[in-house]
Amino acid sequence: MTDLGPTGRPLPVLPEPGPRRHGAPAVVISMCNQKGGVGKTTTTINLGASLAEMGRKVLLVDFDPQGSMTVGLGFNAHELDQSIYHVLMDRELALKDIILETKTPGLDLAPANIDLSAADMRLVTEVGREQALSRALYPVLQDYDIILIDCQPSLGLLTVNALTASDGVIIPLECEYFALRGVALLKETIEKVRDRTNPRLKIVGLVGTMFDGRTLHDREVLQTLVQGWGDLVFHTVIRRTIKFSDATVAGEPITEFASTSPGAAGYRQLAREVLVRCPDA
Ligand code: ADP
Ligand code: MG
Repeated sequence: MTDLGPTGRPLPVLPEPGPRRHGAPAVVISMCNQKGGVGKTTTTINLGASLAEMGRKVLLVDFDPQGSMTVGLGFNAHELDQSIYHVLMDRELALKDIILETKTPGLDLAPANIDLSAADMRLVTEVGREQALSRALYPVLQDYDIILIDCQPSLGLLTVNALTASDGVIIPLECEYFALRGVALLKETIEKVRDRTNPRLKIVGLVGTMFDGRTLHDREVLQTLVQGWGDLVFHTVIRRTIKFSDATVAGEPITEFASTSPGAAGYRQLAREVLVRCPDA
């Protein structure tokens, strides 16, 4: 009998990640869902850490004024002198000047905090307001293999900036019926961005998070997702475990905090799937 994964499809054999490709610009991917608490920040941190483990040079961009990713990687968001906000607002300040090294080798962070909440209003009156993040990222594209952007839970101007700067989008969503409804709206936004500011934008995939394998409900949600989105749904599903909150408190990715846990294995598998779908990364 073939082994059916949690999404009800036969599991593919995922190739060993190859060596990094030198000299190509980074592949930029936004983690996006206008709903809060679906696992965007957790996915950005742990997918990033898994890709770094595989030898990729990774930049994480915190693009949520809540600064959860900055905190989750062990930094004090309130005490930042400079953050991604200042790079957006001050053309003299380069992204390189605010980038922090995390404890994980190969994993860098462009931090954010509540200051970023002013960006929406201040950018509105600017020419090329949707391209502010693209402009900021451009000078570092050669320094990284992959750049992951942790979006805020809204479809406002910051998220449009993230999508405009991206080659692809990953949509994390909770294995829960209500989760399916919001995705249609997100798809519309992605299509608008594609039409207006970024024709190269593609959906890399949707990933189910906080999956509880014991309930029929969670498996049904995944099957409904596959009916609607087909192969765009990642085979990898991230299980629900308290270890993710514990890792956040410790300020570490789960791949370091609980390296042999199922949660860490889940994100390593997701990283392999992402590399298959984004062969340039
Ligand atoms: P978002 O960025 O979409 O708001 P987060 O990644 O911050 O979502 O996750 C919301 C909360 O759920 C956090 O407290 C996080 O630790 C927790 N969490 C995320 N993924 C899981 C999971 N697979 N199992 C259990 N808790 C999780
Ligand atoms: Mg978040």
